[in-house]
Amino acid sequence: MKFLLVGAGFSGAVIGRELAEKGHSVTIIDARPHIAGNCHTERDGETGVMVHAYGPHIFHTDDQEVWEYVNRFMPFKPYVNRVKATTQGQVFSLPINLHTINQFFGETMRPDEAREFIESKADTSIKDPQTFEEQALRFVGRDLYEAFFKGYTQKQWGCHPSELPARILKRLPVRFNYNDNYFFHRFQGMPEEGYTKLVEGILDHPNITVHLNTRFTRDQVDDYDHVFFSGPLDGFFGYELGRLGYRTLDFERFTYEGDYQGCAVMNYGEESVPYTRITEHKHFSPWEEHEGSVCYREYSRACGEDDIPYYPIRLVNEKALLADYVAKAREVEKVTFVGRLGTYRYLDMDVTIREALDTARAFLEKQALDEPIPAFFVQT
Ligand code: FAD
Ligand code: UDP
Repeated sequence: MKFLLVGAGFSGAVIGRELAEKGHSVTIIDARPHIAGNCHTERDGETGVMVHAYGPHIFHTDDQEVWEYVNRFMPFKPYVNRVKATTQGQVFSLPINLHTINQFFGETMRPDEAREFIESKADTSIKDPQTFEEQALRFVGRDLYEAFFKGYTQKQWGCHPSELPARILKRLPVRFNYNDNYFFHRFQGMPEEGYTKLVEGILDHPNITVHLNTRFTRDQVDDYDHVFFSGPLDGFFGYELGRLGYRTLDFERFTYEGDYQGCAVMNYGEESVPYTRITEHKHFSPWEEHEGSVCYREYSRACGEDDIPYYPIRLVNEKALLADYVAKAREVEKVTFVGRLGTYRYLDMDVTIREALDTARAFLEKQALDEPIPAFFVQT
């Protein structure tokens, strides 16, 4: 069969590889001049540092098959994400852990004491937290909420934390020990030569052809047996019902001789600092040595028509519009919508790869049984 994959990020590359390995002919197009989508990495021309061009990407997963899959194409080096936060004139450790709590309150509490202390600070009148703010007040109390979450979240999402769902904060743990690993997954690391080389390995198959700088048009569907679309769902329909809301990011690059901040990611909790975080890319490759350093200040804002969509907003209005687009997508023949843009969800890389593997396999099974192919293999 002949397949068209729109988008050369992890979604398109992994589905394409699965189909190619089964002997099918795969064409992958991407509107950008490079592969790997938002995970694209490249060497900075001035410093030689490997840069995460669209923001910091740390691979972390509990999924052994996915971990083995990525390591097959590019060996991963050990890397543990230890994030710091500057707020109220001090530098703290994130996620909030015993060190953060003791430093913030000027105490020397042991785990049980800290747990009791934080519970005494928490607003226990909130029984079933619905919003980000309620979740924060219920679990860490007002002082920590205002220092670490309120300003950062206002900058990141462009609205008050009381307008955001609790699930956004549920991604971050609070620990009553000194574990400052940002993630709690079994596997964590960095691809030795970056994500783009990793995706290059996935695409390196005789049945796969890649065309960059090539934008999808709907008439291309006629030339293929089936299309997997990992571009924006609303974009597929020419935004005819309106635009699904996203946040976009601006990166302000600067260089430094030596070590600028001593860690890869420094968050800024206060609203008075206009950026959310500074990434110093060379700390993502601790096994390399670079005298010069390149850093990105990261600013978040509403995504305009010509901007790159980063974070799906998914509030009530967006979800209603999403439902309308999903209904339209189900009417389209020979197209399956995949990935973070095609399904309008925030997806970590490991989840993206898991869904891509499952989608390709489920597609081939259905096709072998001559069953109808759905527009979505996942819940939107
Ligand atoms: P994408 O990577 O966005 O690829 C889609 C591709 O489709 C793009 O290359 C685009 O150019 C192309 N395209 C779109 N429309 C068209 C069209 N009409 N014609 C042709 N091509 C088109 N995940 C983690 O696991 N760890 C992290 O630390 C992490 N950090 C992140 C930080 C930020 C700032 C963001 C925004 C995301 C982060 N992620 C992280 C998530 C990660 O970026 C995604 O999991 C991944 O990019 C999803 O891959 P994808 O292929 O679905 O989408
Ligand atoms: N967050 C915050 N302060 C921080 C880090 C995160 O308030 O220092 C909030 C913010 O709203 C963010 C959410 O927690 O969107 C999830 O954080 P995560 O680090 O997972 O963000 P991402 O990796 O998506 O940028």
